[in-house]
Amino acid sequence: MSSDNAAPKPTPRSTYPFNSPKADVILRSSDGVDFPMPKLLLSLSSSVFSDMFDLPQTNSDSKPFANSGDGLPVVDVSEVSHVLEMLLRPCFPWEVPVFSTVKELAEVLQAAEKYGMERIVDSVRKTFTETKYVENHPEEVYALACRFKFKDVARTAAKYTLRKPMPGDYTPAFEDISGGDIHRLMEYHKTCGNRVVSLVPEDGTTIECGTIWDSVALSCTTSTCQPSTSLLKRGPSKYDERRRTSSRTPRQWWWSMLHDIRKELQERPLSAAWKERATSPEALRKAMECETCRPRAPDEVKKMVMDLADKVGNEIAKVELQLNF
Ligand SMILES: [Zn+2]
Repeated sequence: MSSDNAAPKPTPRSTYPFNSPKADVILRSSDGVDFPMPKLLLSLSSSVFSDMFDLPQTNSDSKPFANSGDGLPVVDVSEVSHVLEMLLRPCFPWEVPVFSTVKELAEVLQAAEKYGMERIVDSVRKTFTETKYVENHPEEVYALACRFKFKDVARTAAKYTLRKPMPGDYTPAFEDISGGDIHRLMEYHKTCGNRVVSLVPEDGTTIECGTIWDSVALSCTTSTCQPSTSLLKRGPSKYDERRRTSSRTPRQWWWSMLHDIRKELQERPLSAAWKERATSPEALRKAMECETCRPRAPDEVKKMVMDLADKVGNEIAKVELQLNF
């Protein structure tokens, strides 16, 4: 916050809300834009400015302010004008800042912390989890949440990374956090993947009668409907305990669909890709060629996908991202 100001001539920001006749101090950005502000609003928003304005404003050498041409004291700050504008707008309680990038949000947040602007820190923190930021840039939001120690934001962002394969997109924000923070995110992703994959039957699994996995593909014996090379067990039923467990060879169309679902869920535990793949005409093409599977397969698969989606959501909700702050 030096008051050296050789040249060029500063540009006044005279548009609303920076044109108030009540302005009694000027904040000058590092790129030479002047923001006239009422000291009262700055003091109420920022502990740093509040303390600064409480200092005696004498003409001694230690005087922190220079004067602008119109006689108002000037405080030079290190922020550039677009950051300073977004930082100062919310000092007017009716003004809501609009951010276009996560980087912008981070710059304003950093400045807000520096000047002790808690209300603004809080409002920016909430903005981080707005869908358009966290959905499109979960890795960046996660990294910034770790840097600024926002637990709830970190958890929300980590959940959005489950829509993509790890390690996700690189962001320069990773350079500002620890290897531990990144490892914890990868561990969370892997644990979620393992948990949701375990919901889908694999070779040797026992499938209870009447559950979402109890498919026509386990009972079809039509010779033209290709069997897989896997073996599952079917039964008993919770509705009929006398029913014996029997070994079944699932039909290939169904088993390969399950294989695809497992692969997708492991890579992207919360993506919609597995649902689309399971219900695609291609996944059901072989089933529709079989006279036994055809009448039941589409409805069974649709119901299985809906139920599995619920189970995936529940399973992921049980996994807690570990944080060290
Ligand atoms: Zn069949």
